[in-house]
Amino acid sequence: MHHPDLAQLQKLDAAHHLHPFNDNAALAEKGTRILTRGEGTYVWDAEGNKLLDAFAGLWCVNIGYGRKELGAVAARQMTELAYYNSFFGCTTEPTVRLAQKLAELSPGDLNHAFFTNSGSEANDTILRMVRHFWKVQDQPQKNILIGRFNGYHGSTVAGASLGGMKGMHAQGGLPIPDIHHIEPPFWFIEGGNHSPEEYGLMAARRLEEKILELGPERVAAFIGEPIMGAIGVYIPPITYWPEIERICRKYDVLLIADEVICGFGRTGEWFGQQYFGFQADIMAIAKGLSSGYIPIGAVMFNDRVANVLKDKGGELAHGYTYSGHPVCAAVALENIRILQEEGIVERCRTETAPYLAQRWQELGQHRLVGEARIAGMVGALELVPDKSKRAFFAERGKVGVQCRDHALRNGLILRATYDAMLLSPPLIIDKAQIDEIFDKTWKALELTAAELGIK
Ligand SMILES: *Cc1c(COP(=O)(O)O)cnc(C)c1O
Repeated sequence: MHHPDLAQLQKLDAAHHLHPFNDNAALAEKGTRILTRGEGTYVWDAEGNKLLDAFAGLWCVNIGYGRKELGAVAARQMTELAYYNSFFGCTTEPTVRLAQKLAELSPGDLNHAFFTNSGSEANDTILRMVRHFWKVQDQPQKNILIGRFNGYHGSTVAGASLGGMKGMHAQGGLPIPDIHHIEPPFWFIEGGNHSPEEYGLMAARRLEEKILELGPERVAAFIGEPIMGAIGVYIPPITYWPEIERICRKYDVLLIADEVICGFGRTGEWFGQQYFGFQADIMAIAKGLSSGYIPIGAVMFNDRVANVLKDKGGELAHGYTYSGHPVCAAVALENIRILQEEGIVERCRTETAPYLAQRWQELGQHRLVGEARIAGMVGALELVPDKSKRAFFAERGKVGVQCRDHALRNGLILRATYDAMLLSPPLIIDKAQIDEIFDKTWKALELTAAELGIK
């Protein structure tokens, strides 16, 4: 069924709503797709199409759509105490319980939480936190943060600066001072004749070179996504993160893991750090923390950072009106309860993720696919003009969009970044739905190859 007001809604949207990360003129021309309903792994749009959402909204709907428990918890909390702040020596029960639960779940001694409304705000908080951390220990010059080109850490001023997206830096005069970037690991294009393991070490050592170039006494922290999501699911070789950790320890540089995508089961482990075997001093979380049902993020930090901030930090001059919002905290707690009690992460790791990996590798056999990469429940197909070479299309981004649109017309939501087809389904996906992803993706690849005349 067509939504009776669809045309009107599209017109109003074009007139009054500026969309994030969109060419708004082109969108107004084409008409916005309006989503109306979600259930499990599927969403419905205003034209009445049922779509398998293989991207979980925006990497976030880990428990799937339509879980009534979260709405019930939100309604209860709103009725009882809709809001109170955590300023002025106050807080609320769900806020405290969530901080404790996150301390319990987080790897190592990431035992302390600071609450935000988003991943971007978590990274803004981290930037100020690490500079303050060194300053109160009489090292104010140790204020440089190193991120990676093509990394994504959000859209606020600090988040976009820590990230390494050129297009974002070009709008608004970023990055802000004392932020540097190194090249990220991407074996498919850069690895040459090196094995992934060998290449992973080489890529990690770019951090050591950068630290030595700047001077270790200047470098406060390194930040990275365990798996780089937005740029196209770049999964580093297994040697990369342990080597990054070794280098950070050697020069006393704080290690920050941006777990906004990887956290809460995306890799089949609770956190990307556990998947890759390293331990951060600070981590950013959001997205899967509430499965996207309500906005909430957090910074988790270890005992060392907590003790310095407590003993020497003085009054923390930082906070959001909605830091630790009781409704958001209650919803996040319910989301975590469902993930834990239903064994969702465990089931991914042992059952569904291995099956998804097997089917994804089969898609990798297609003549348009240069590489099928996957880790747990997050992956990408790199589309290439020539399967025998590890190289991009000369004009990047056209073929990806073609393939994405074919998938969509077939009832499957995949994201395209340049010519990589990105996969990040709800973690509750079952084997039949994984087969559906396979069939619809194969068909989209076939239609795309036919259009390109690639036999
Ligand atoms: C989405 C994302 C962010 C930003 O989170 P928002 O909630 O959109 O502000 C930060 N880091 C990573 C790795 C992300 O994927």
